[in-house]
Amino acid sequence: MLSNIEPPVLRRKAATDKLLEQIVKHDSWPIQPDILSLPLLRLTSRKPLWLDLQPEPVDIKRRWRHNWKSAQVVNSHLVCDPTIRQPGFDLSRQQWSLLNRFRTEQGHCGACRRKWRLTDTDCGETQTMSHIVESCPLTKLNGGLSRLHSADEDAVSWLTNYGK
Ligand SMILES: [Zn+2]
Repeated sequence: MLSNIEPPVLRRKAATDKLLEQIVKHDSWPIQPDILSLPLLRLTSRKPLWLDLQPEPVDIKRRWRHNWKSAQVVNSHLVCDPTIRQPGFDLSRQQWSLLNRFRTEQGHCGACRRKWRLTDTDCGETQTMSHIVESCPLTKLNGGLSRLHSADEDAVSWLTNYGK
């Protein structure tokens, strides 16, 4: 979850737009005619920057939020606004990364596998990240993943216990 770091493609777009804005403003720059009177597109494989010229420079955050809504990302509904820091950002690195493993349902974490093998408290179901937090009678957190995402006090103490 690369939240609060602007996607590179949008940053590049913003930088390009800024440069174009400068070019359009400066009549004496030799590059200006190239940008204002555009050549025809000859090769369809090329994507020259003027294909995507807009009157206004790109608004990164607006575009980012827009893209996020249509993103096919696991549990993307958890994040209402991708441009701000998500809850729990100030947790320890270990807890933050464990929290994000639950958010993204990424694989089995080493810690939980070890835990299940050592303690023999498996409920019989497959120990997916989602099962562990949402439905396992042995481990689930009241309120499930949404609660965990909020990184409130109970969620953090659940995380701490779990990560042991
Ligand atoms: Zn279980």
